[in-house]
Amino acid sequence: MALETKKKITFCKKCVLSSNLPGVVIKDGKCSVCLAEEELEKRFSRKEYIEKMKGVFAQAKAKKRCYDVVVLFSGGKDSSYLIHLLKNTYKLRVLALAIIHPLVNGLSLKNMEEISGRLGVELMKFYIDGNLFKKYLGQGIKLSFNDKMGPIRLAIYAII
Ligand SMILES: [Zn+2]
Repeated sequence: MALETKKKITFCKKCVLSSNLPGVVIKDGKCSVCLAEEELEKRFSRKEYIEKMKGVFAQAKAKKRCYDVVVLFSGGKDSSYLIHLLKNTYKLRVLALAIIHPLVNGLSLKNMEEISGRLGVELMKFYIDGNLFKKYLGQGIKLSFNDKMGPIRLAIYAII
């Protein structure tokens, strides 16, 4: 019988990622993701990029279209936060675009609807045919082993 030892799980003090996630290492209370971000911030000016981004947003607003920005929305925390930031901090008119494919379950769809409603943005749902998705999923897997979004990109590309 193999001897198993339980590793103590620790959490990043900055972002709360845990040490039991693959590839995450906690060092001096900070996770490897936060440490990598700090290294990037030393090399690139965040403030400069934010100013450039604000310029792009101002150009989008000046066009006075129905929406200033379209956000690909999964209903997860990243795209939900991005929508919140764009709408509430940068005052952009946001359209949330959800790509509904066979791997999106009913709960995910319900979350998308609830979150977009709470954020006060319109949700456009784009349904992908199951057979077409399978076809491009297979092709995408062949072409982009290291890119988990590759199959979805290919399916969208094929439809539009
Ligand atoms: Zn962290």
